[in-house]
Amino acid sequence: MMRELLSVFALNHKTLNKLRNVIIHLREHGKTTDDFLEYAKEYNENHRKVMLEVEKVRASQVLCSECKRPMGLRPVNFDNATKTNDNSKSVWMCFNKDCMHTEYSEKTIEQWRNELTRRK
Ligand SMILES: [Zn+2]
Repeated sequence: MMRELLSVFALNHKTLNKLRNVIIHLREHGKTTDDFLEYAKEYNENHRKVMLEVEKVRASQVLCSECKRPMGLRPVNFDNATKTNDNSKSVWMCFNKDCMHTEYSEKTIEQWRNELTRRK
């Protein structure tokens, strides 16, 4: 039964570790599967909103101070995978592979978007 349940996923090592952490967290905090699904839904919704903001900023061209090529804005510190251990909310990254210049910022994606819209 377990095998059939799991066969729908291509479980690599990283995914297995993540699943393990989730299961341990649920057990330690006395949470149910419904709690997890509720949280996952909320998380996905937040993630979707953040990505929408990113798309909007992408339309405004900001150029790299090093190589003058376009830069992209990404959110940081909104989940464990993007932790920077400081107060940064976003990072500008140069798209030029030979440059890769990054500038961290304490402004959120939304604050950047508002500022860039005003500049136009
Ligand atoms: Zn650059």
